[in-house]
Amino acid sequence: MRWSHLHIPTLHADPAQAEAIHHRLLVRAGFIRQLMAGHYMLLPLGLLVRRKIIGVMREEMNRIGCEFLMPAMHPKELWERTGRWETMGEELFRLQDRRKADLALGMTHEEVFTSHALELNSYRQLPQIWYQFQTKFRDEPRPRSGLIRCREFTMKDSYSFDIDIEGLDVSFERHRQAYERIFTRLGIPSFTVNASSGTMGGNASLEFMCPSDAGEDVVVICRGCGYAANLEMASSRLPTVIDPESGDAPHMFATPGVRSIDDLARDYEAPASQQIKTLAYMLDGQMTLVLLRGDHNLAEQKLRDLTGAVDIRSAAGDEIRTALGAGPGSLGAVGVRGFPIFVDEALRDRRNMFTGANRDGFHLGGVDVARDLRPSVWADLREVATGEECPQCGRSLKLIRAIEVGHIFKLGYTYSEKFGVRVSGPRDELVHPIMGCYGIGVERAMAAIVECHHDEAGLVWPLEIAPFSVVVTNLNPMDTRTTETSESIYDHLVATGVEALLDDRPLRAGAKFKDADLIGIPFVVTVGPRGLAQGEVELKSRASGETRALSIGEVPSALKRLMNMAVIQ
Ligand SMILES: [Zn+2]
Repeated sequence: MRWSHLHIPTLHADPAQAEAIHHRLLVRAGFIRQLMAGHYMLLPLGLLVRRKIIGVMREEMNRIGCEFLMPAMHPKELWERTGRWETMGEELFRLQDRRKADLALGMTHEEVFTSHALELNSYRQLPQIWYQFQTKFRDEPRPRSGLIRCREFTMKDSYSFDIDIEGLDVSFERHRQAYERIFTRLGIPSFTVNASSGTMGGNASLEFMCPSDAGEDVVVICRGCGYAANLEMASSRLPTVIDPESGDAPHMFATPGVRSIDDLARDYEAPASQQIKTLAYMLDGQMTLVLLRGDHNLAEQKLRDLTGAVDIRSAAGDEIRTALGAGPGSLGAVGVRGFPIFVDEALRDRRNMFTGANRDGFHLGGVDVARDLRPSVWADLREVATGEECPQCGRSLKLIRAIEVGHIFKLGYTYSEKFGVRVSGPRDELVHPIMGCYGIGVERAMAAIVECHHDEAGLVWPLEIAPFSVVVTNLNPMDTRTTETSESIYDHLVATGVEALLDDRPLRAGAKFKDADLIGIPFVVTVGPRGLAQGEVELKSRASGETRALSIGEVPSALKRLMNMAVIQ
């Protein structure tokens, strides 16, 4: 293609309000523009990259399944069938047609694919792996700058149907391997973590994480044994604490003005690690107390997974006062009955602890957890912190930020049961197929690639994803010989199947070099009058910055060699 036919609106300066590197660079290099928060235009180069990414995903997915295209707009009835018309809440975009029929804009497609699975009728047709590339809509409360969290985005989603759990294990493993190949080919370094399955239901899920400061996820990793887990799910080992004896019973003391763990620690010689933190939660409308060590934080997802509660929130001030008779600064669970009390494992066998007395301005000391509390459930509820010990090998844990680039779930029977999908089994009995679902965000993958492949001068696309493999830069379009030579090199490359871009714009050389670096095409062939006087052109590799002078005839073979080396096998 000719640069003059393309629209590549590069910018001299970084766009305002673009924080993440990929956002800044993709806007500057003329790949994307924001329409409104969470919605992006893909300009011609952005679209070419998207097509490349989809191409890689399609090739790998076609090795294990087959492609569909399902509507983005769905009838309400499908979502009511699974209860998700309700539970998806405000994240689901809803609209009405002229007949006032309720519709949803698909945020995911379990309902639609499962409704089609009613056409399956025998185990002989299984396994099936069905996938698509489709626009998803999610009414994110806080669409972030850039392509990582959008309200409208493309997803490769797939769904597997198997006759039994062993079959599901195979489909899941096939996806895991396909995803590994996809991320390798896209140049996205990734590792997997066990993840909470959230509202999808089911019992096994893996997230593919790409380490990046732009990521929204925090992952706990151990460099010793390779342990890796989402912060929501991670656990750690704590050193055993030996407390002094508590005495016969807790004693109450006045703590006027104390509102927090820190206040009590500072004014009453009660270190946070010797306090019991009492959190009041409403779990699906049920007041519940959650107890943690004063210096620990609750991992809310652990509470969610433990209880299966859908609607989880902190109790409001008046709800707390009605239930416990005090404000949030003086809460405790000693002597409390009538509510579920969930206690974090780190409090087991602790003695001589401090906690609120359920009386404003008073606390208790000398609390013995085993003697004075009536826990309903002991569980690991706390969030891991940097430096704590690995649960597997005891080395120090690290917290890093990461982009979740893929997610694979074992869904189980939920959807096939709700839709009444049944096939005849080997002994003629009717069975529900067991399902899995799997997703990769296409534009998010683009963001991750850029986060991992750039430098000060701009984007550095891996060859397989680059919008073009090579840009042929005509340094002086006014010069006939330069123009003829660059055109003939370009024509030759195109004729031999190389994706080439010809920079034929009437601009000065400096601007052309800068733009070529910014848009990140892997190879640049520069044709100028000075070089041609020596019978030479220059070939530059964008990633390494290496340049070499070549005779015109050497260009195709030298380029082919470099391209072969650059392909990720
Ligand atoms: Zn470890």
